[in-house]
Amino acid sequence: MTIRFDFSGRTAIVTGAASGIGAVIAEEMAASGAFVVASDLDEAALSDVVNGITAAGGRAIAVTADASRAEDAERLVKAAVEQGGGLHLAVNNAGIGGPSAPVGDYPADGWRKVIDVNLNGVFYGMRYQIPAMEAAGGGAIVNMSSILGSVGFANSAAYVAAKHGVLGLTKTAAMEYAQKGVRVNSVGPAFINTPLLSKNLSQEMLDALAGMHPMGRIGTPEEVSALTLFLLSDRASFITGSYHLVDGGYTAP
Ligand code: NAP
Repeated sequence: MTIRFDFSGRTAIVTGAASGIGAVIAEEMAASGAFVVASDLDEAALSDVVNGITAAGGRAIAVTADASRAEDAERLVKAAVEQGGGLHLAVNNAGIGGPSAPVGDYPADGWRKVIDVNLNGVFYGMRYQIPAMEAAGGGAIVNMSSILGSVGFANSAAYVAAKHGVLGLTKTAAMEYAQKGVRVNSVGPAFINTPLLSKNLSQEMLDALAGMHPMGRIGTPEEVSALTLFLLSDRASFITGSYHLVDGGYTAP
């Protein structure tokens, strides 16, 4: 199912846009009229996504950038403003899974890397996106958290801590800019069928994960994109500072 919102005249940054959830969000935002500034570390895969968008009649550019570097976040916003005429929308989506180990064995360098990408990256993004959105007359941001922004998961301390941190950062930014025309929300997907999972888990583990959701399956990137696009759209004009789950009932019990 293709979701259509009206983002014509808006410029949008999507990080982690070369794969999985970010790629679908970038494609659906472009199909909804946005000029998409798609960003990722993976230059070749990013270029495939952007070429697909332009072949389908959408408008997008690729900017290779590391979400965990403040100077890259600044450069990305500059590209959006210069080439898109201003910045209106952003999805801080780039993320990594990190090592799997209990806290007592968790590698400190793996901890730092996950916090750098999944939490610091969201701060660096908003640090430069928000002033640009204010200059453009307002905007909306979605920060990609997880169900693991509100519940724990054994052997994933850094990921869980970073995703909980994203919620606090989202709420604080939302309060600070609620009267300045910038809305900030977070999305909490349960397990979603993307390379993040398929690269790291066996089919047996994927089946076990599916069984942890009351719906008996994992989700699709399109299901996460539908919620994200709604939150970015003007239809969500009174929604800010909140955490929105798309989890097949995972957190209901
Ligand atoms: P994905 O398919 O692995 O896509 C993530 C993309 O982000 C990849 O292209 C990745 O590149 C890129 N990336 C990694 N580190 C980066 C960095 N420092 N700077 C820029 N780009 C970087 O993962 P996904 O499942 O779509 O996940 C997207 C977001 O949703 C993440 O924040 C993730 O935590 C969140 N999420 C996912 C799930 C799930 O079950 N899939 C559930 C809840 C939340 P590489 O491939 O080179 O690493």
